[in-house]
Amino acid sequence: MSEEDNWCHYSGMPSPAAYQTNNITIHDRTNHWINVLGLSGWSISIKAISKEAVIYADDVPIEDRYFVGVQINKEKMHAIIYHDRSLTDEYVVHELLHVKHPDWSEDQVNAETERLLNQNKDEQKEKTQSR
Ligand SMILES: [Zn+2]
Repeated sequence: MSEEDNWCHYSGMPSPAAYQTNNITIHDRTNHWINVLGLSGWSISIKAISKEAVIYADDVPIEDRYFVGVQINKEKMHAIIYHDRSLTDEYVVHELLHVKHPDWSEDQVNAETERLLNQNKDEQKEKTQSR
């Protein structure tokens, strides 16, 4: 499998849970999820790309024309998340899951992303309550 085979085009609207931690920088969030997913040893880079750098088919509606994808180099244990819109927890978790489970289908990744985000929401709640 070449590196290019690992592109994932994320399409769909982020869930409300994705916006809960907007005050924390995305790099902190990425490090948090790297720990949660047990991806220590991996280096994950995040690169913003311009919208003009992405080519869409003519039949893709304007609102779906955004790109979040990950390029994975398994040997070097390095992955680059590219994005042309603001990254949310949901995107980060989604792309990191591709890094962890390269053989998973898009549906599996989406289901696990939702589960992890909900779980994290509960943990945050518990932390606040015990204060
Ligand atoms: Zn994906």
